[in-house]
Amino acid sequence: MSRCVHCRVATRFGYTTDTYTRNGTDIAVTVTGIPADICPSCHESYLDMDAATEIEALLAPFFDAAAAPGRLPRPNVRVDFPVPTPAKAA
Ligand SMILES: [Zn+2]
Repeated sequence: MSRCVHCRVATRFGYTTDTYTRNGTDIAVTVTGIPADICPSCHESYLDMDAATEIEALLAPFFDAAAAPGRLPRPNVRVDFPVPTPAKAA
């Protein structure tokens, strides 16, 4: 069981929302439904390395497109990973 580096309380598995930005671009990408260990006290989230790497790779084309000159305004980008709903008791 991992613990929050700030509060030292045990984290719980859950899903979080994060906004990613990159220097040199004015685009922000909001990602929801990221699986993470979350601190129940301060709500700090801890992604595992694989998830963080996958998200970075997924977002790279948006940042590359935003850095290129263009006539269109910067889009609002939102990536929603589906969050599994708890199974209901029959
Ligand atoms: Zn905490």
